[in-house]
Amino acid sequence: MALPTQRRNKAAKGRRRSQHHLKKIGLIPCPHCQRQIFPHRVCPFCGYYKGQLVLSSLANKKAKQNKKSKPTSADTKKKPTTGHAKVSKKHKQAK
Ligand SMILES: [Zn+2]
Repeated sequence: MALPTQRRNKAAKGRRRSQHHLKKIGLIPCPHCQRQIFPHRVCPFCGYYKGQLVLSSLANKKAKQNKKSKPTSADTKKKPTTGHAKVSKKHKQAK
């Protein structure tokens, strides 16, 4: 098993470990949707680059998600009613 030939002093250890910190990612707000994105890249959320729609598939997905999200929110509202229906079924069984 390999062993270090000499003991590292505190200063050398500190100099080596001074590079171990993580660098902050340089994100910028998207000019179209204001979300944090990488500069010089197409926005992965809205598909815009330099004020132009580049990835229309992303925009379509977003539109679909918006359409889907609205019924799902309605479904969550409906969930208590289904719960009541279950309760009513239990009452029917009890009778
Ligand atoms: Zn965007």
